[in-house]
Amino acid sequence: MASKEFNAFAMAQSQFDKVSDLIGLDAGAKSFLREPVREFHFLIPVRMDDGTTKVFRGFRVQHSDARGPAKGGIRFHPQETVDTVRALAMWMTWKTAVVDLPLGGGKGGVICDPHHLSLREQEQICRGWVRQVAKNVGPLADVPAPDVMTNGQHMLWMLDEFEVIHGGRYPGFITGKPVGMGGSLGRTEATGYGLIYTIREALKDMNLDPKNTTASVQGFGNVAQYAIEKFTQLGGTVTAVSCWDQNDQTSYTYKKRTGVDLNELRSITDRFGGIDPKKAQDLGYLKLAGNAWIEEEVDILLPAAIENQVTGETVNSIKKSVKIIGEGANGPTTPDADAEISKRGIFIIPDFLANAGGVTCSYFEQVQSNMNYFWEKEEVLSKLDTKMTTGFRAVSDLARSRKLYMRDAAYVISIGRVAQAVKDRGWV
Ligand code: GLU
Repeated sequence: MASKEFNAFAMAQSQFDKVSDLIGLDAGAKSFLREPVREFHFLIPVRMDDGTTKVFRGFRVQHSDARGPAKGGIRFHPQETVDTVRALAMWMTWKTAVVDLPLGGGKGGVICDPHHLSLREQEQICRGWVRQVAKNVGPLADVPAPDVMTNGQHMLWMLDEFEVIHGGRYPGFITGKPVGMGGSLGRTEATGYGLIYTIREALKDMNLDPKNTTASVQGFGNVAQYAIEKFTQLGGTVTAVSCWDQNDQTSYTYKKRTGVDLNELRSITDRFGGIDPKKAQDLGYLKLAGNAWIEEEVDILLPAAIENQVTGETVNSIKKSVKIIGEGANGPTTPDADAEISKRGIFIIPDFLANAGGVTCSYFEQVQSNMNYFWEKEEVLSKLDTKMTTGFRAVSDLARSRKLYMRDAAYVISIGRVAQAVKDRGWV
């Protein structure tokens, strides 16, 4: 599905260049903010279960720490590249800024495929990753979190290694930890729920009742599953879900006209969000091509898998019925597809706003970890709702008043805040 020449960092820079020119950002701030301030590339040797040693390549990119410690997840992905990590780090800077968190942006990655790694091997990768950057990350410098194919267990191994190295307890070093081990209630749900809070607000503006709306979702990992949960709670119907099939090395869309049943699908899903195709068909799901999710006749499209999915090629399959695109994934839409979406007047909630719920709750987790006092789930989720709604309102108001495309409006706010911070600090 994803084209070979796609470069996420080039895309992130072109989005940035467009808006920095639009707001007349001065040359110094522009050249400072269009690149990561720091990055680390390293090797992680791991003694595998069969006794051989395998060497994995790891990265940590800190795009900006102007507004606070760098913040962002760590991905495990076989196709990881440093340019993808750079783009994701940059998007984290705009993400924390758009919801006004006192944090910067960073991202990490390891080129590996956890489908083919035992838990012990994954633990060695996590500990090896921390050993390589232990001096350059930390609660006051750079705070990692989970992302594609990493979870709370990975975070806990990383925390443990960091604490062994630094000789103390530093629960604020990392977020997305398991509840009871420094994690926050609501963190698992936060990205998917946050996405739907913004969808709810957009529907309100269109005078649409969620109960009468349908959605199609790409992905069935953490973000997609909790987005489906919240959207269904609001009364909406999800007609199709697309996800990766590890055995066939391709993706499929599973469709049920009457609406997918989240719990039913969860019961036939592996830990990476892969749905068992045979069992899905037994349960009455139609198995369609991977791209069929985007061709659904629905009100809302939720790309919640990975970057480079709504492209110049696929954008034309979007049906007239689609009113909103909510980007649960980071970087799912390419600039040429953006131009088409803007032309067609589809309301887009851009990734770094739409999926900011995860990092917002990570921020709450860090606050709770640092003061060693943990809130009830309702308190976390209501604070999350407030942050997401406020962030959404600021962007949509600006988009309306200045007649901007939603992505550009979000960039205007974020770049403005970060540029102000680097100027106020006297860096540019
Ligand atoms: N990986 C998530 C994201 O892309 C969360 C980052 C975090 O919690 O720091 O937003």
